Amino acid sequence: MRIEEMVCILCPRGCHLTVTQDGDDIQVTGNTCPRGKQYGINELTHPMRTVTTSVYVEDPGRDKMLSVKTSQAVPKEKIEEVLSIVKTVKAKTPVKVGDVLVAGIAGTEADLVATRNIE
Ligand code: SF4
Repeated sequence: MRIEEMVCILCPRGCHLTVTQDGDDIQVTGNTCPRGKQYGINELTHPMRTVTTSVYVEDPGRDKMLSVKTSQAVPKEKIEEVLSIVKTVKAKTPVKVGDVLVAGIAGTEADLVATRNIE
């Protein structure tokens, strides 16, 4: 039997979850809503994270860095690979929120997208 304690990060309430796995049976306690139950199950079986970071601007004016994020959560084990790719990216201006800088980053279904505008 595997027992994990964790905090649900889906909303500011931050419920303390206990997730118990016994074979294929997974029980979650401590959640206040159904989203917490699914979060606990996902964390035990296939944790995912949205990556937020920044990249250099190729032709910096006032702005040397551009904030970026993955368009959706990526598997936790892919985060290091995502960040190593991010280090090689330089954004070309002008950039608009939502512009895709890297499609399908690290072989995931997520794109690396800009989260602000730079003229
Ligand atoms: S279990 Fe529900 S109420 Fe509790 S932190 Fe998660 S999303 Fe929020």
